[in-house]
Amino acid sequence: MEEQPTPPRGGPKAPQDLPPSDSAELRREVLACGRCGLSETAAQAVLGTGTVGAPLMFVGEAPGREEDRVGEPFVGRAGQLLNRALEKLGVARSQVYITNVVKYRPPENRLPRAAEIRACMTHLRREIALVRPKVICALGTVAAQALLDTKESLARLRGRHVEVHGVRVLPTFHPAYILRSMEYSRAALQAFEADLRRACRDAGLLGDLEARGGAL
Ligand code: URA
Repeated sequence: MEEQPTPPRGGPKAPQDLPPSDSAELRREVLACGRCGLSETAAQAVLGTGTVGAPLMFVGEAPGREEDRVGEPFVGRAGQLLNRALEKLGVARSQVYITNVVKYRPPENRLPRAAEIRACMTHLRREIALVRPKVICALGTVAAQALLDTKESLARLRGRHVEVHGVRVLPTFHPAYILRSMEYSRAALQAFEADLRRACRDAGLLGDLEARGGAL
């Protein structure tokens, strides 16, 4: 009898363990989800945008008012700050992938609840499996704690690089926090820009000059 290949430990993968074949499949899964009530109050689902296969993925908290209206992550003031920081490094939004932990806007922009985050992590894990980034930049406390499965503060998590299933996770400030802090200091903005440079460099997105510490 012909020898059969040994199945992977734990048996063959169930269909839900395989990454979605494309963004459209992931979108269908989110639209069919209903594991939390957020879809009832939001205008629409906001899935990730950018390039599947990009080496760098940004993960924010949840869509805000503008994102809920347009249907794209980080298109409001916080998103514009992120765009400007990327532009300074010579990196276009189309070279990265941008998404959120939670795919529907929480009412009145309240923080997503633990159960909502847990429910949506299934989609984020599948989104990560689809995009296969080398580096994930976690924007703010909600994203950093959800991705690293911890309750540690962002102050402790920021500046550390943690490997999660072969992906390097770099936590940094949320751009909305940077916008608020800029009213009295530029220190947080400079730290945020330095974190972004590191994330882009680790992902291999910087030209030689920027990688050596040039432009910023
Ligand atoms: N804040 C987020 O966390 N995500 C967005 O998409 C916009 C603002």
